[in-house]
Amino acid sequence: MRKVFNFSSGPSMLPETVLSQAAGEMLDYEGSGQSVMEMSHRSAVFEKIRDEAEELLFAVMNIPKNYKVLFLQGGASLQFSMVPLNLLPEGGVCDYIESGIWAAKAADEAEKYGCVARPASSRDSSYSRIPPLPPPSKGASYYHITTNNTICGTRYTQLPPTGPTPLVADMSSNILSEPVEVNKFGLIYAGAQKNLGPAGTTLVIIREDLIGKHRPETPLILRYDLHAQHKSTFNTPPCYGIYIIKKVLEDLIQKGGVKAAHSRNTEKAALLYDFLDRSQLFAGTAEKPHRSLMNVTYTLPTQELTRAFLAQAEAQGLVNLGGHKLVGGIRASIYNAMPIEGVQKLVSLMEDFEAHNIKHTPKAAQEN
Ligand SMILES: *Cc1c(COP(=O)(O)O)cnc(C)c1O
Repeated sequence: MRKVFNFSSGPSMLPETVLSQAAGEMLDYEGSGQSVMEMSHRSAVFEKIRDEAEELLFAVMNIPKNYKVLFLQGGASLQFSMVPLNLLPEGGVCDYIESGIWAAKAADEAEKYGCVARPASSRDSSYSRIPPLPPPSKGASYYHITTNNTICGTRYTQLPPTGPTPLVADMSSNILSEPVEVNKFGLIYAGAQKNLGPAGTTLVIIREDLIGKHRPETPLILRYDLHAQHKSTFNTPPCYGIYIIKKVLEDLIQKGGVKAAHSRNTEKAALLYDFLDRSQLFAGTAEKPHRSLMNVTYTLPTQELTRAFLAQAEAQGLVNLGGHKLVGGIRASIYNAMPIEGVQKLVSLMEDFEAHNIKHTPKAAQEN
């Protein structure tokens, strides 16, 4: 048993069985006499790991055959550039829904390459909800959404009416947390460090007809077509990360797949939201219909109470509960690998904390 429950927004917890298996294989992977960290990325043994990771992902997400799966580097942040460099022609137009801080960053980056329309934004309400979703702008090359907003704790429950315009999604913080109809998307990307594996690997799922539309100046290393042609080994891929992702996928299948993960995630999130709804001291920040299953954001009435709460949590092994530095408050990131026991322990600490502090500072006397 590990000693802490890590509520970090990422890198975050990995299933314990994955870590202990990896530890067992650290010095000698399946009789190869080598660690996966040492292997040539062109060796048969590594190619098998990569192929299996890919096949498992196709199976787990029910990805149609006309899509390619790529394991890249550079994080979700590099996709903010790769997406326009590969999908937005010179002088083109694209749509970005500004539903959160990462969504805004993605739009800002794309602006370097063309005309970015922001047909909807929830900036005015501190990104506490998903804005109503309009249809695409005329001639838009693609329509970008962020399906889970990690910092402000909201998630999409409906997709926008994009028709034939390719829908591009940053799913960094909710991929594999609930079933997704991949065929509704032109491209999906996700940094691995939240629900997939260790930091350093970025997953891209791209529909084949969108491959090969890059702009002429696109650096070779940023071209989807080359990564697809070389099955993610155009250059040295993040080998160890791909190996851990394969194990995470095996573990997910073992535990019933994405549907079962979704019901566990719903149950975990409900424990926290139900408490927030009856609390006199803690207050959730996201609007109810758009609450994230992965990142539960909330506040206490004063900075002093927030600091005291975070210190007590840490002392009990509930770590990294501080909100993002731009928004403060408290954020419990409860990705797939967070056991329900971690959430139960957190809720029971919140109950105790409230019982001890409510007399002094009822919710009505909030200072912020
Ligand atoms: C974490 C996160 C990012 C940034 O990911 P990096 O891999 O650090 O670049 C981008 N978008 C969303 C939605 C995220 O949660």
